[in-house]
Amino acid sequence: MEQQAELLLVIEIPESKKILCQADGCGHSVYRRVHVVRESGKYFVYGEDCAGKIFGKSLKKPLIPQERLNGYIPSSKDIEQLLNNTREFVSNIEKQFTKPEIEDSLETPNFSKMSDAELQKFCLNQVKDEFRKEKKLDPDLPGWAGWVNSDAKALFKKLRGDSS
Ligand SMILES: [Zn+2]
Repeated sequence: MEQQAELLLVIEIPESKKILCQADGCGHSVYRRVHVVRESGKYFVYGEDCAGKIFGKSLKKPLIPQERLNGYIPSSKDIEQLLNNTREFVSNIEKQFTKPEIEDSLETPNFSKMSDAELQKFCLNQVKDEFRKEKKLDPDLPGWAGWVNSDAKALFKKLRGDSS
């Protein structure tokens, strides 16, 4: 049967906190390049040698890239969690080391809470952006001012209109 295994991350554990490789019949304590693997929904922690023996080349690069974990040294508490609740350990690592989503900064502004002046400014910036990116025009050139302003006004109406 084909092994469906995913390498989630590879971590380095302080030597004084070695853990037991979970491969069948291995019994070795490991700390260098400890491989955390998910296999059919279950989580396992193996030493590098065993991971190599069991999965061979089917194991791809870790899901959480090595570069991101650089300098990470798991505490005793982390290691306890790694052993007792590997799933949670992995999800904590993911939270800690995966880049935060940028959705916060892209959140749609609440137009109804903006004052007219704020919304006008927002519309003007929006339109200017569009000129630069889509029309490839410099909105700050005096020649375009009329166009920019009328587009901004139209946008303002549209956005304001929605809430009333
Ligand atoms: Zn082993």
